[in-house]
Order: sequence, then structure tokens, then C-alpha cells
Amino acid sequence: MRLEGIHHITAVTGDAPTNVDFYVRVLGLRMVKKTVNQDDPGVYHLFYADERGSAGSDLTFFEYPGARCGRPGAGMVHRIAWRVGSEEALAFWAERLAAEGVATERDKHGLCFADPEGLDLELLVSEHPDQPLVAEAPDIPAELALQGFAGVRAYASNPGASAPLLEDALGFHPDGEAAWERRGSERGSFYVYDTPPPERGTPGAGTVHHVAWASPMDELESWRERALAAGAQATPVIDRFYFRSVYFREPSGVLFELATRDVGFDVDEPLESLGQALMLPLQHEPRRAQLERALTAIINPRAPA
Ligand code: ZN
Repeated sequence: MRLEGIHHITAVTGDAPTNVDFYVRVLGLRMVKKTVNQDDPGVYHLFYADERGSAGSDLTFFEYPGARCGRPGAGMVHRIAWRVGSEEALAFWAERLAAEGVATERDKHGLCFADPEGLDLELLVSEHPDQPLVAEAPDIPAELALQGFAGVRAYASNPGASAPLLEDALGFHPDGEAAWERRGSERGSFYVYDTPPPERGTPGAGTVHHVAWASPMDELESWRERALAAGAQATPVIDRFYFRSVYFREPSGVLFELATRDVGFDVDEPLESLGQALMLPLQHEPRRAQLERALTAIINPRAPA
């Protein structure tokens, strides 16, 4: 049994129009699903990914319109890292982001910047041969595009407390101090802890809600049992329609999800037009007119005019 690195990452936005513009037009990801939070259908759930909506490339946002910006603290993911293919890609992104007025910082590892609500992002040149998960943006050459997640960095004051769950139950491989890698047969991602700031974290816009790790469908229950045996308070398997999920907090406080890779975003709309129409979970379909009126109007830069 192997988890195939990160499946998706879910964060919070207070401003869906700006969020869509940044992730689709500026970063060149494809909006692969426009739906609502299953548990709170008045709230958007927007998914950005590669061209096919592949696990490993999928960043999702709940929109709470007007939500104040939060601040990551202990027990929260504070940075999302994507792979890019080359040093030339880092140079391309430094220039492209500067032209958008986005401040960037180049360090020895990669290029750091933040989204419009302060969510820290980083581009790293990949050392692994994982298949690039790339979206087709009209003004971004494929070889320079984002290629899927490299990993996430979280804050933890006592990273060692998480080691038994990460290593013994979930098979994360130690890769330095407070650093792990979860590599499957096709893909892998890093999971690293940094020393938290003294202030408590506050959830809100621009903060990560949870990180999901990719499981084959037929292994999900076994992974859940392993998490339970390691002391995690894992939920039952929940049907999220596009995948099945189990949630639990790891000992440092980060909300983990294990999600299956087997269904896909083209189960309820054609691959060619992913993300253009509002897709509703069946139980919320009777309220479509009311929900459509209440949700923020957004323009998908990639939708046909
Ligand atoms: Zn999730």
C-alpha cells in the first residue's frame, strides 16, 4: 500500500472573482470544477488543477465572501509548493508575476510569493521524474507551466509528536529534520514542519483548510484503519462525489484527508468544458435557482466568450 503524495489542497478565499483571476489567468491553472461546499451549499467550492483535473495538481477554495484574511500558526499549513521544470521556468514566473505587481523572492530553492490574500506559494524545480501535470494556458508555454504539487510546509512546535502517525501509519519517509516525503509508485510530495510564529494562527481567507493525500479506492478503508490504530480520530469514509474521503487531524494539528484518485471531475460534465457550469451535488439540485442567485458572480478567464 502506498499513498501517492498530495491529492489536493483546500484553502479559503473571501473573494472568488479575484481568486479565479489569480489562479487561472495569472498562474495558468484550469478551473476544473465550479461547485458548492457539500456541507454548506451557499459557499462555492472552486477547483484549480491541470488540464484533466488530476490528483496531485488540484488546489481548491471555499469562498466565504468578505472573509477576513487569516494568519497561519501552529497546526496549520503555511506554504504550498508547486513543481516547475527548470530554472528558466523560475525566471519566467519571476518576470510574469512582477508584471502583475506580485512581489517575489528568489531563494536558493525556488521562487516565493503570495496570492492576493496572503497565502504563501512557492515554485521549485523538480528533482523527481513525476509526470508533469500541466494546464493549457494560452500565454504560458507548456514547458514553463506549473506541474503539480511539490509539497506543503506546515507549522508545528513539536514535530516529533507527529512522527509515529506519519511514519508508522501513513508510510511517510523521513527526509531530514522535521521533514518527510510521501512517495507512491507514480508521484510523491514533501511534508515539512517549520517553527511556528509566537502568535496563534487564525483561520480565514488566504489560509489552508486541509491537505489531502492520494489513496487508491480499494485501500482507503485500510488507510483509515491504520490512522485509527495510530490514535487518530478518523471520520468514516465520506462520499465527496468526485472522490471518497476520510479526515483526521494529525498530532501537530494539521487537518489531513485521505482521498481516492479513481473517479475524476469528468464524471458529471465533459472534459472539454470542465469548470464552466455550476455543478451541484444531487441533494442540492432542487435549490439551484436560489443558490445561483446567492453565489458570487465570477468570470472564468478560460471560458468561451
Ligand atoms: Zn479535501
